[in-house]
Amino acid sequence: MSFKLKELDNATENVLCPICKHKALNWSEEQYIQPCEHTAFIALDLGFEYVADFFEDEMQFSVDEIHDQSLNVFDAITTAHCNLTIYKMPLGVANYNRYVGFVM
Ligand SMILES: [Zn+2]
Repeated sequence: MSFKLKELDNATENVLCPICKHKALNWSEEQYIQPCEHTAFIALDLGFEYVADFFEDEMQFSVDEIHDQSLNVFDAITTAHCNLTIYKMPLGVANYNRYVGFVM
């Protein structure tokens, strides 16, 4: 596995898919999570907001196991067998982050 990490400064920045330019995170929509086919996951340090089936299959643990056992979300997404670009942005709460991953 390998991943590229890109840090965004703004908690309310739209996040565009690097492949199809779809706004996977679109703050002008009430339902701001708008995954495209390349979106692997949208996650917080606290848990997953969205995970694609193909990506969950590549992780060592299922999302339910990660939530139930309070496993580290960043470790879980970065040890999956996938080449990813991960956008990391502040959540605006404590020191938590949001991560948006796209499969390359
Ligand atoms: Zn896309």
